[in-house]
Parts: sequence; C-alpha cells; structure tokens
Amino acid sequence: MTPTRLRLNDGHMIPQLGLGIWQVPAETTATTVATALGMGYRLIDGAAIYGNEVGQGEGIRQSGLSRDEVFVTTKVWNDAQGHDSTLRAVEESLKRLGMDRVDLCLIHWPCPARDRYLETWRAFVQLRDEGRIRSIGVSNFQPSHLERLVGETGVIPVLNQIELNPRLQQSELRALHDRMGIVTQSWTPLGQGNSFTAAPVQAVAARTGKSPAQVILRWHVQLGASVIPRSTRKAGLAENLDVFDFALTEGEMAAMATLDEGVRCGPDPMTFG
Ligand code: NAD
Repeated sequence: MTPTRLRLNDGHMIPQLGLGIWQVPAETTATTVATALGMGYRLIDGAAIYGNEVGQGEGIRQSGLSRDEVFVTTKVWNDAQGHDSTLRAVEESLKRLGMDRVDLCLIHWPCPARDRYLETWRAFVQLRDEGRIRSIGVSNFQPSHLERLVGETGVIPVLNQIELNPRLQQSELRALHDRMGIVTQSWTPLGQGNSFTAAPVQAVAARTGKSPAQVILRWHVQLGASVIPRSTRKAGLAENLDVFDFALTEGEMAAMATLDEGVRCGPDPMTFG
C-alpha cells in the first residue's frame, strides 16, 4: 500500500508515512531501506548523526526504484551549524548518500545556546537555490525559534519534525504550524510504547482488529502529520505501513486527546545541543 502525500508550502509533495532510520545499524541499513521500499515505503528519514547515510543511499539504489520515486531526508547536526560549516556538512552528506540532491534537509536541533540557526538557515536557502536541497525545513524548533527564523529571513520552513506521540500531543505548536503553513512531522511517534495499553488505543484496536501501533500511527495521519516510524523487522515494517484502510471516529480522536500529559521521551529543545 502506498501512503498518501501532503503538499509542502513550496509546492513539493511528501509521503505522509515513511521509515525513520535512527539507530538502524550502518551495516544493515541498506537491506532495511531496500526492504521497506519494496513494500511501498517512499520516504526515508535519515540524518548525518545517525551514521548510516551510506546505507540509506545504497538501499535506495538497491531497491531498483528511480531516484525521483523516493523522498530522501537528511539533517545537519548541531556541531555543523553556521554558514560555511553547513555548506560543507550538506556536501558531505550528499557524498555519503551518493546523490546530487536531497529532497529535504532539516536543521536537526535549534541549539539556542549556540545561536547559529539563522546562519545555518541562510546556508540552507543558498543550497536550495543551487539545487542541492529541494525543500528546506527544521526539527525540534519551538515557537520562539520559528518566529525569529521567519522574522529575520522571510523564509518559512516547509516542515518542522518534532517529538509527537499520544503522551506529548504538542497542540499549540501544531496550531502554530497550521497558521504558518508548516507541515508537522512526528518523531518517536510510537512514544516508546508508552500508550499501547491505554484504554482509547485498546478500544480502537478491539473495534478494528488493528494493533496498538497501527492505531497510533493512524491517529498521526488523522492529525494531518507526516509520520516516520522505525522498524527493522519485515513484519513491523509491513504493519506500520498498513494504516490507510481504517479510521478513528471523531469520538475516538477525542478520547485519544485525553492521553496528553506533555511528557517528553527525548531531550528538551530549549536546552539541548
Ligand atoms: P518509533 O516511535 O518509531 O519507535 C521505534 C521503536 O518501536 C523500536 O523499538 C521498534 O522496534 C518499535 N516498533 C516499531 N514498530 C512497532 C510496532 N508495529 N509494534 C510494536 N513496536 C514497534 O521511534 P524512533 O525511532 O525514536 O522515531 C522514529 C524516527 O524519528 C527515527 O528513526 C528518526 O528517523 C526520527 N527521529 C528524529 C529525531 C529528531 O530529533 N529529529 C529524534 C528521534 C527520532
């Protein structure tokens, strides 16, 4: 089954569901990526810091799909922030991927203490204009970072990839994204399993015969987010892709909303990096 796609504010399209490859071992990344693409995945979310961009590129070539059929994301790590260092970091990522452009590049974390995301963003705009990055976005940006970025540069990110799961629903940030025309993309979408046994998840699972993971991924889709679950098992990859043939009702979505506790699995973007 092929995921639906979302329109980015620069006119390009992104698959709504893709494969995240954080912590996928470098030596097995190519196989995992090729397997996922064979099943219908069309978005692979990587990053320089994951240490597996070589396998990400290799897996895409092994899949036999044409380059244009696959949406490739990478990210610039914190220690590469700054104008010239970003230009170098993206060239190095492209070299490891074996590609002449990526479809999306993200500033991985805002790192407010470093205060270099504006310079980094200006380098992204240059790389976009030079055709090395097709769409430019950010990750883990908070409202103050988004507002400053757009206020100072006038360029709105296409997407903000943030931690989002039933225990951390990020409604205010998502509302800001909607007002600014930014796509929300959910990382750690399954929340380390912390809501698999919650009553609203179990109720949908019982009604539809879907697994708790599928119910949660479908919830992301219905929030309008793009979502990038990670699995390295064939059965897990297939299960996570199979969320486009059922829907949560309005009442079930409302019940899911009650699970929000504002609790993060990952670091706080205001202090990290
Ligand atoms: P995830 O929510 O995708 O969960 C992965 C874990 O859940 C793994 O242990 C996996 O075995 C298990 N799992 C996967 N499918 C399952 C299923 N169907 N049933 C039960 N268990 C299942 O977590 P993640 O990897 O942290 O996040 C997804 C992706 O988001 C990452 O791979 C990465 O690409 C991205 N990410 C980005 C940032 C960022 O700062 N931008 C941070 C973390 C992750």
